[in-house]
Amino acid sequence: MDKQQILDKLLSKDIGGIKLIVVKCSELPNIFKGDVFTVSTLGSILDDVSLASISYAFSNGFNVIAIVGHDNCSVFDIDKRPDPTNSIDRFIEKVKPSIYATNDREEALRYLLNSIADTIRIRLPNIGKAEREGKAFVVLLKVKGDEVVSVE
Ligand SMILES: [Zn+2]
Repeated sequence: MDKQQILDKLLSKDIGGIKLIVVKCSELPNIFKGDVFTVSTLGSILDDVSLASISYAFSNGFNVIAIVGHDNCSVFDIDKRPDPTNSIDRFIEKVKPSIYATNDREEALRYLLNSIADTIRIRLPNIGKAEREGKAFVVLLKVKGDEVVSVE
């Protein structure tokens, strides 16, 4: 399967034949049924433990990673949100200039999801390498009502 075929399957929510890692915002319900390994955090933001979970799943044959966000995500209301561990703040700090450079939440979300994809590629270089070789796939998705749409 190539990336477009995988994307088409994900958009139709039929993931037969795919071993899927879903990295999604905790505010979202589970979207996919089947061979799914789910990592769920506020804003889909990854820390060492969630990256280790992705690495574990990848080493067990899960080679499609869908990073799933949504427009009205609470992660964008960071000033109103308490974060006793500071880990979300530390991540957001890096992407904040881009998020606040636009009033367009769709664009801010696109930037956030791309930052999360890059975090996976950089922190888990074996996944980045497999992606370049066409053996792993990272796709960005957004939940819009009952629909799943592609974000690029
Ligand atoms: Zn959210």
